[in-house]
Amino acid sequence: MKIGILALQGAFVEHEKVLAKLGVESVELRNLEDFLQHQSNLSGLILPGGESTAMGKLLRDQNMLLPLREAILNGLPVFGTCAGLILLARQITSQEESHLATMDIVVERNAYGRQLGSFYTEAEFNGVGKIPMTFIRGPIISEVGKGVDVLAVVNHQIVAAQEKNMLVTSFHPELTNDLRLHQYFINMCK
Ligand code: GLN
Repeated sequence: MKIGILALQGAFVEHEKVLAKLGVESVELRNLEDFLQHQSNLSGLILPGGESTAMGKLLRDQNMLLPLREAILNGLPVFGTCAGLILLARQITSQEESHLATMDIVVERNAYGRQLGSFYTEAEFNGVGKIPMTFIRGPIISEVGKGVDVLAVVNHQIVAAQEKNMLVTSFHPELTNDLRLHQYFINMCK
């Protein structure tokens, strides 16, 4: 099994390290050529944390937005963490433009304000158990469509969800030593 990791910007190396610990091969996707070269061998795709506006711009500049969108709509399993979640959202509050827009969720960027921008907690993740969660200026999911399962809630806010082949978290599971969420995603890729 090989997982592609979008490597335009942000925390992609951390995901590579977690996959390596799980014995799963990964490949960095830095441009359209990388994606086209590996596409047919990919079992899944990770969209890391970082800055969604910058990643969205790079996806457009490199003509990757539509091919990635099509692959996801065709069922390629995808895991978006933090900025990666924002890339997948159908709508981004107070922003005209969405990016891949494949998932039926509305998100609010930097939703925790200045005081609580970054924090650590432990909370229940549906079907997995209590897991560590590191938030870094993360978004919250303010609305979910009918086909979306809510998987974790922190402070009455939705912080993880799944719709078919798409898994998203507002927090960064790749920044903790807990491998269970990546394992959960790997199971989606099988
Ligand atoms: N604040 C970033 C954004 O809005 C996301 C932060 C992150 O990925 N850690 O894109």
